[in-house]
Amino acid sequence: MMIKYDYIIIGAGLFGSVFAHEATKRGKKCLVVDKRNHIGGNVFSDEIEGINVHKYGPHIFHTSNQRVWDYINQFVEFSRFTYMPIANYNGELYNLPFNMNTFNKMWGTITPDEARLKIEEHRASHKTDAPANLEEQAINLVGVDIYEKLIKGYTQKQWGRLCVDLPAFIIKRLPVRFTYDNNYFNDKYQGIPIGGYTKMVERMFDGVEVRLGVDYLANKQNLDALAKKVIYSGAIDAFFDYRFGELEYRSLQFENEILDTDNYQGVAVMNYTDSETLYTRIIEHKHFEFGTQEKTVISREYPMPWSRGDEPYYPVNDDKNNVLYGKYRELAALESNVIFGGRLGEYRYYDMDQVIESALQLAESELL
Ligand code: UDP
Repeated sequence: MMIKYDYIIIGAGLFGSVFAHEATKRGKKCLVVDKRNHIGGNVFSDEIEGINVHKYGPHIFHTSNQRVWDYINQFVEFSRFTYMPIANYNGELYNLPFNMNTFNKMWGTITPDEARLKIEEHRASHKTDAPANLEEQAINLVGVDIYEKLIKGYTQKQWGRLCVDLPAFIIKRLPVRFTYDNNYFNDKYQGIPIGGYTKMVERMFDGVEVRLGVDYLANKQNLDALAKKVIYSGAIDAFFDYRFGELEYRSLQFENEILDTDNYQGVAVMNYTDSETLYTRIIEHKHFEFGTQEKTVISREYPMPWSRGDEPYYPVNDDKNNVLYGKYRELAALESNVIFGGRLGEYRYYDMDQVIESALQLAESELL
């Protein structure tokens, strides 16, 4: 077989699309393959009833990285959407992230000093100097009341394990603020691509050959023979046929419903933070784009254990898995013709902007 491409890129998600775009722009010939029958990876959006449905869970683009923001804005315009999810704890509603509105609802505090004092009281008996797990970290940050009502149930459902068995860094993704500001993110820029994520990725793939429904690992030899180099954004343990065993992932399932109402819950995302409700959140997609359609589409998100063949969504970056990942990383370093990247290729809880930044960095070092 003839080498026809400079790069074969495995995965049509954000990592693959940014790299493919950059390589094509610099005159390289790329072939992108994805085993799914659509582009975009987990940012894929599908239009249902005129509404862009986030098929793999809510994706809100946010970044403080100027270069990433400028980059992504070449392809699509972003709306002014600001993520302000509501937490529903057995019918009691709280603002997220943890801010003065949350504290007021929880304790009736009005001033930042009052709120700080309350948190101090609530963590006094539990405070640890060096939080070793998510539970200790959460209590240190916001005290026991908020931990019990807004964190514990949600987190244990999402990750399928106890908060004492989870790494502390996960909860540090959420801001704690002593202002009346319900914006979930601290980043400078935020929004949703107008017209949907799929449109954005389509534009990145302008002029790039993309083959969908192609399972790279099942056809590795033939596909490798087509290109000089492989950019692989699939799961790293799968690439090596799970030689050292499986890395752990968390999976999700979505139950989608079209409803005959124009507004079901009044907010894009409502988190169910109790431990009895089986789903973690309900997404009402039209609110991401201030939609005025007559109907609405909602998705209930159910966390799921992952086993081979399921979609991996979240890497479980605890010590045990990070050590195992280190072993795969060593194998990866020996593959001189393959570059691993993205959330699955690097087994990292990357946000979208971080994926784009790392693909841009790769493009710079690789495409001289
Ligand atoms: N979290 C929580 N309660 C909530 C929302 C989030 O305790 O209502 C915790 C949970 O542990 C979660 C982490 O915060 O894993 C990070 O949440 P984020 O919204 O960043 O997760 P993602 O959007 O990636 O699913």
